[in-house]
Amino acid sequence: MAPTSSPFALDGRLAMVTGAGSGIGRAIALGLAGAGADLLLMSERDNLAPVAKEAAELGAAVTTAQLDLADRAARREAVEELLDAHPVDVLVNNAGIIRRAPAAEFSDADWYEVIELNLHAAFELSRAAGRRMVARGSGKIVNVASMLSFQGGLLVPSYTASKHAIAGLTRALANEWAAHGVNVNAIAPGYVATATTAALRDDPARSAEILARIPAGRWAEPADVAGAAVFLASPAADYVHGHVLAVDGGWLAR
Ligand code: NAP
Repeated sequence: MAPTSSPFALDGRLAMVTGAGSGIGRAIALGLAGAGADLLLMSERDNLAPVAKEAAELGAAVTTAQLDLADRAARREAVEELLDAHPVDVLVNNAGIIRRAPAAEFSDADWYEVIELNLHAAFELSRAAGRRMVARGSGKIVNVASMLSFQGGLLVPSYTASKHAIAGLTRALANEWAAHGVNVNAIAPGYVATATTAALRDDPARSAEILARIPAGRWAEPADVAGAAVFLASPAADYVHGHVLAVDGGWLAR
């Protein structure tokens, strides 16, 4: 009997992952490579060599690109060129930043810089990749949302606004592109041990408070998020559109 290929297999697919040099993006990139995808990895800093090497060891053909996605003019030109040269089947909008301060003292920079990267860059990348995917009649876009796509959080107004917007954008793009064979979905990670949450983990009171509310009884590791990305990037998710998939150890169930 001929072997049946797994509906989760990504062989022959090219996946672009932003913010792939660290944390969740790095874990997603390796998860996709493990499922058979080739990779176009992006980062702001020059830190992609280790993840590129690991992905290549998993069998992926890997291209890397260093780009400041918060630089509007630079990203517009570079993204069009990159996507023309590399027709991606999967886009993972993972790059994101967070700034913490009380709302009444929140600076313009902490507002605009977060929105620029977390929302504007994600929209522009989705628009550029989505246009090409619609023309080809297939593609998967996976946005990285957050618990703060559902909740208000504390001291992070620009982050919460950006992640609520990402959930809305996911649904809006899904509604337009589902009929064209393009799936737009999001993953909402819970509390993951990465640079984004270092300040929380360094605060013993906040850290204990968060941990006590997680039914799974532990913070997530970046690798906990990778399987959801593989699923949403794969043919197994062909009929999944506009969904925000929580990978949160049960946080939202409380
Ligand atoms: P992280 O390791 O700090 O990852 C953030 C990534 O964004 C880095 O790879 C970084 O690239 C990239 N980035 C930052 N500024 C950039 C810019 N101007 N241009 C291009 N790339 C830029 O933290 P993380 O927790 O894995 O965050 C990844 C995503 O998960 C973010 O969207 C975050 O909001 C989301 N998330 C995290 C958690 C959590 O608990 N950790 C929970 C929910 C959602 P460089 O390495 O080059 O700086």
